[in-house]
Amino acid sequence: MSSDTHAPEQASDITPAQILAEAGRRRTIAVISHPDAGKSTLTEALALHAKALREAGHVHGRAGRAGVVTDWQDMEKQRGISISSAVVQLSHRDQVINVVDTPGHADFSEDTYRALTAVDAVIMLVDAARGMEVQTRKLFGVCKQRGLPVITVVNKWDRPGREALELLDEVESVTGLKPTPMTWPVGIAGDFRGLLERGTGSYVKYTKAPGGATLALEQRMDGDEAVKVEGTAWQQALDEHDLLSATGADHDEEEFLAFRTTPVYFTAAVANTGVGQVLDSLVDVAPSPHPQADVEGQDQVVDGRFSAQVFKTQTGMNPAHRDRLAFARIRSGVFHRGMTVRDNRSGRPMVLKHVQTVFGADRSTVDVAYPGDVIGLVNARHINVGDTLSEAGRIAYPPLPVFAPEHFRTVRPTDLRVGKQFRQGLRELDAEGVVRVLTSDSRGHGEPVLSAVGSLQFDVVQYRMTNEYRSPVVFAELPYTTARITDADGAAVLRAKRGVEVLEHADGRLFALFSDEWRVRGIERDNPGLHLEELVATS
Ligand code: GDP
Repeated sequence: MSSDTHAPEQASDITPAQILAEAGRRRTIAVISHPDAGKSTLTEALALHAKALREAGHVHGRAGRAGVVTDWQDMEKQRGISISSAVVQLSHRDQVINVVDTPGHADFSEDTYRALTAVDAVIMLVDAARGMEVQTRKLFGVCKQRGLPVITVVNKWDRPGREALELLDEVESVTGLKPTPMTWPVGIAGDFRGLLERGTGSYVKYTKAPGGATLALEQRMDGDEAVKVEGTAWQQALDEHDLLSATGADHDEEEFLAFRTTPVYFTAAVANTGVGQVLDSLVDVAPSPHPQADVEGQDQVVDGRFSAQVFKTQTGMNPAHRDRLAFARIRSGVFHRGMTVRDNRSGRPMVLKHVQTVFGADRSTVDVAYPGDVIGLVNARHINVGDTLSEAGRIAYPPLPVFAPEHFRTVRPTDLRVGKQFRQGLRELDAEGVVRVLTSDSRGHGEPVLSAVGSLQFDVVQYRMTNEYRSPVVFAELPYTTARITDADGAAVLRAKRGVEVLEHADGRLFALFSDEWRVRGIERDNPGLHLEELVATS
């Protein structure tokens, strides 16, 4: 989204070689972590080390923090959390790093998982005391399913925690990836003196900057000097480093990109310690945008015609008029303002005049953007999550995966006179992917069923139905915990089963809801050949 480099009228002159070079400068990543592991702190620390180009509706709302520009929604303000995700764009060593936010709170939504469809690699942040926590494991599951390369960052090394080798064992046993530490801590968790850089063998000693608000002071020295300064702490780090080398725990780019290894870094993000190395790894280790297979399985080269896939839509950024923003990740070609694209689903042409980046409440116009960048399309009422936008409308990427819902509730308006707003609200929230709205003729009064990955989504629905659609709703919990997609024949079989319900989504897909996985397995066993499509598990 480097709007400064080219005027829009020149954009059509940009050659494939230039597009390839710009794509080569891009790294598009997300940080995955359990709430409180330090995702926001690390993102801010990365921005401090890099040059922040743009910040878009990002990270937690903590009062008084410079650079935090989000929390535009009342609900976010009330809760002090970010419900919507967007992008922070950084520049480091002449490369452009797009950090796509994965909103992180105890109760994740499908949005969080969808953000992972827009990135080429992830940073997996692990708390040094807590290790691989439940949400980290769930998010990792999506990375595994997509084969996304994972860079591991062990954070909060300034606090008492576990032993480094023990943490590596846990990462390996949970992820199946072999950890290949790039830096190694000198001093145990809680006594963070500095880092042994395994590539060079140098010691980087950190001295805390007062208050931690600015970069920690760094002193670089060789092993001889390090042993004089740190004594046994250095010696222990060196021994562990040798042990790692002896077991082949060294970074190998091919192995990393093939999802077999994970480079590991140690940080105290709050003090900005070790963060520079993580930033360097995004440049040196993380992959640039690569060709993407379309629905037909054909690779679309990055320097071809423009294409982008929508991974998130969002309504209500501007309280004055409720507009809808669609966030699309550019997969190929160059975007320039004023270009005409078509949506693969609706075939609708649209002129992308009002393409903007959104920085909390502030917006700025984008003139040119390249593969790896994320653009925000304003007034995108007819664009849905998963749609592909391309110049002739000929490119279509596979639909985004459906992440397995675990929560199911019926919904009805408290005031039956607002039926129209109720239906419109649900239709729009479904199109945005806030929840999935399922219906069935066999349900009394045609009451829709909402399915969600996290139960916080029902609060979002209640809030938005009340405030945007003037139709407060009542939910009733249903006794299901898992779902599969089935076909018409499968539906006929399943409808006769006790404790199973089949409902339809607006896109025509049939969802079968089950009390639990045991029930699914029992039915599968008794009905071989039954079409039951598993959804992308997040646990
Ligand atoms: P998030 O929920 O993952 O985004 O976590 P935050 O970035 O909001 O951090 C959660 C808490 O941990 C905050 O109080 C941070 O100040 C603190 N924190 C983050 N990183 C570190 C760290 O490296 N060391 C210590 N001691 N605290 C940290």
